[in-house]
Amino acid sequence: ALNGGSAKSIKGDAQHPFFARQMKIVRQHSGKVDPERIESYIALGGYQSLFKVLYEMEPVDVVGEIQQSGLRGRGGGGYPTGLKWATVAKMPGNQKYVICNGDEGDPGAFMDRSVLESDPHLVLEGMAIAGYAIGANHGYIYVRAEYPLAIKRLQKAIQQAKKYGLLGSQVFDSPFDFKVDIRIGAGAFVCGEETALIQSIEGGRGNPVPRPPYPAEKGLYGCPTLINNVETFANITSIIREGADWYASIGTENSKGTKVFALTGKIRNNGLIEVPMGITLREIVEDMGGGVPDGEVKAVQTGGPSGGCIPASMLDTPVDYDSLRAIGSMMGSGGMVVMDHTTSMVEIAQFYMEFCRGETCGKCVPCRTGTVQLYALLTKLLKRQATAADLEKLEALCLMVRDTSLCGLGQSAPNPVLSTLKYFRQEYDDLLVQPAYLNGTSSAAEAV
Ligand code: SF4
Repeated sequence: ALNGGSAKSIKGDAQHPFFARQMKIVRQHSGKVDPERIESYIALGGYQSLFKVLYEMEPVDVVGEIQQSGLRGRGGGGYPTGLKWATVAKMPGNQKYVICNGDEGDPGAFMDRSVLESDPHLVLEGMAIAGYAIGANHGYIYVRAEYPLAIKRLQKAIQQAKKYGLLGSQVFDSPFDFKVDIRIGAGAFVCGEETALIQSIEGGRGNPVPRPPYPAEKGLYGCPTLINNVETFANITSIIREGADWYASIGTENSKGTKVFALTGKIRNNGLIEVPMGITLREIVEDMGGGVPDGEVKAVQTGGPSGGCIPASMLDTPVDYDSLRAIGSMMGSGGMVVMDHTTSMVEIAQFYMEFCRGETCGKCVPCRTGTVQLYALLTKLLKRQATAADLEKLEALCLMVRDTSLCGLGQSAPNPVLSTLKYFRQEYDDLLVQPAYLNGTSSAAEAV
């Protein structure tokens, strides 16, 4: 994993911090398992956690174990996974669903793709354990169409698990039935939002709907539904096998376990890394990533289009849900982009806004028109045609879009702008021009 050409290869050097600082739970079988052979997964202890819950644990105990582990949703929001499971488990009714959200869409991020392609049974086993815990017999895994290899391997994995009696009717000869179907998304970023994803599975247009009711109460086909993302499900078998206390011993007080990041940008060593929560950005960027090839780190962007740009002066921030949120960014699903001194932060803000402008579903006005207007203002700035009044408008519009949009896409779309305004204000100011009547090229009356 090299970027920059001048760096020494670290391939095969297990002692290099890029590898040595990693802690693999989600990617525990990375490079060891053949994703197309269930026997390979079983040989590594696969499906033993499912056996354990079916024969040694009551569903309520499984939920309790996940709650005690402190696992939080890895899709970005960080909602406590055990609490979500407990809510769905308590809902009345015989029909419930488990959904695995594999609609990964952040620019530069490929954590879920890697897990699905390299270890599909790990995710399927996690889903089956969830089904047993909450009382669901049917799961869907929603994968974006741009991941054909992941889809192919999942299809094969489901067939093989059925053949071995590990999915389908009477799993492990127990009274528990659990089937999994794949649904393929058509590339809309907004379908990663859980209510839009449900609409999409039901065959409708992937538009978010207001919450409450939450999917845990009224989700797929109006039934209680548990939605977790790929990485969240990939943590489950280890928690069951090693115990909640073991898992809770990793990470910080409020962010347990590990997180997978796609480390990219202006950095020597790039690629997927899995690190314990609480590691600092500096350790990731400078020790593991080897720093930027030339010059200095300027900023690190976490959380994709929903996140923020963190200045180099804050590299000692621990990587956990609360610390990143406190400085105006977020964990997100795992994108981590390093920028050096050559990067224009206004161009970065424009890039992410262009992405959101293209991905808005158009349902609500603040997001539909707000992202277009924000993109236009950023473009005006970069063309050196914007005035201080435009900058004020940009800031006010960001707050309006953030506070009035219906779903997370619109609510978080202004984050890259707001964070760069907060930490790199000078770059915006440097692009401003004076109104024509102030710089003498027209009169005030003409300008009005
Ligand atoms: Fe659609 Fe944006 Fe409104 Fe979300 S915030 S519902 S993506 S228009």
